[in-house]
Amino acid sequence: MEFSHQFSLQNYNSFNIKAITPTIYFPKTVVDLEQLPDLHDSSFYILGDGSNTLFVDHHAPIIIKPEFKGISILETPDNYIVSVGAAENWHDFVCLCIEQGIYGLENLALIPGSVGAAPVQNIGAYGLELSHFCTQVKWFEFSSKVIKEINKNSCQFSYRDSIFKQTLYNKGIITEVVFSFPKSWQANLSYAGLSDLGDTPSAKAVMDRVISLRQMKLPDPRKLPNAGSFFKNPIVTEQTLILLKKCYPEIPFYPQNHGSIKLAAGWLIEQAGLKGYCKNGVGVHENQALVLVNYSSERGQNIVALAKHVQQQVLTKFNISISPEVRMITVNGEQSFNHLVIDSESE
Ligand SMILES: Cc1cc2nc3c(=O)[nH]c(=O)nc-3n(C[C@H](O)[C@H](O)[C@H](O)COP(=O)(O)OP(=O)(O)OC[C@H]3O[C@@H](n4cnc5c(N)ncnc54)[C@H](O)[C@@H]3O)c2cc1C
Repeated sequence: MEFSHQFSLQNYNSFNIKAITPTIYFPKTVVDLEQLPDLHDSSFYILGDGSNTLFVDHHAPIIIKPEFKGISILETPDNYIVSVGAAENWHDFVCLCIEQGIYGLENLALIPGSVGAAPVQNIGAYGLELSHFCTQVKWFEFSSKVIKEINKNSCQFSYRDSIFKQTLYNKGIITEVVFSFPKSWQANLSYAGLSDLGDTPSAKAVMDRVISLRQMKLPDPRKLPNAGSFFKNPIVTEQTLILLKKCYPEIPFYPQNHGSIKLAAGWLIEQAGLKGYCKNGVGVHENQALVLVNYSSERGQNIVALAKHVQQQVLTKFNISISPEVRMITVNGEQSFNHLVIDSESE
């Protein structure tokens, strides 16, 4: 198996943070996975394309970067069954599907990252989540050294969440993701920005619209390093919404299943007066307050300090705690954001 020591991760995370791992492993076959050292007593992190990852410290833990490639398509009378290697690029996969006449993922175009990371937080955008088409995840279990087939229901998909962030966390590696796309396709135009595409737009037209909306709204990490939405949209009770509406009648809100309400974290941050706020070479994006950007810093600690400031300001103004969607990786492995301590240089 390929591996490297004292490896720089600066080009392996979309925040472009300077971090070094003592060892990085690049398993690309099951035999490679079987040969991985036993890491259950060590700090380690499974890295995809690093677009939802913040390296908090200059020193990162041991990294495993799966390199499983390949896409296979099987046709049944009613469906296309597509199996995709974890290291394939998500957006390239979406484009390939559309080119091949396999429709369904067009609303999820241009989301950065690897296919293997997509089930971890059940990626979603423009009215669609991965869980809609994902039927199975193939997952190498460290303890048994066997690849298990985890069916959709067992994946426990929910908003930016799955079993891979919960009970199966750090217990194995996703090697392949399986999707089923019905041949009888219908455009999903539930999201406001897509509703003017007419009654029967092509999947390509939907994808092109999604791409242009995303390019308009979100900074390109290759030009301005960022990890997309830094915070999750908070879910509150109806009672909380009623109280908030008294002070902020214009507050945007989205009713969810079981009576809960999703609020727009970006709106809360903007109302807290932080859009465009900048300190220590990092800042809140000037057009999209949900996105924290790295103008010129090499230190993950500066982003953490900014995120803590944003979280505190939103809490003070609205009494709502927003929490990051981005994973916080320290030298000791992943840490909960609330337990991170900011060093004095970043304060
Ligand atoms: C500009 C921008 C826009 C974005 N827009 C969206 C959006 O609209 N919707 C959305 O949901 N997300 C969005 N994101 C976040 C990001 O694209 C997704 O979270 C994506 O799935 C991350 O993929 P990655 O390969 O970069 O994951 P990484 O950051 O490398 O890893 C993310 C998590 O997945 C785990 N992981 C990665 N690969 C594996 C594997 N093979 N096996 C087990 N665990 C694994 C990691 O350990 C980590 O916990 C955006 C990010 C950016 C930079």
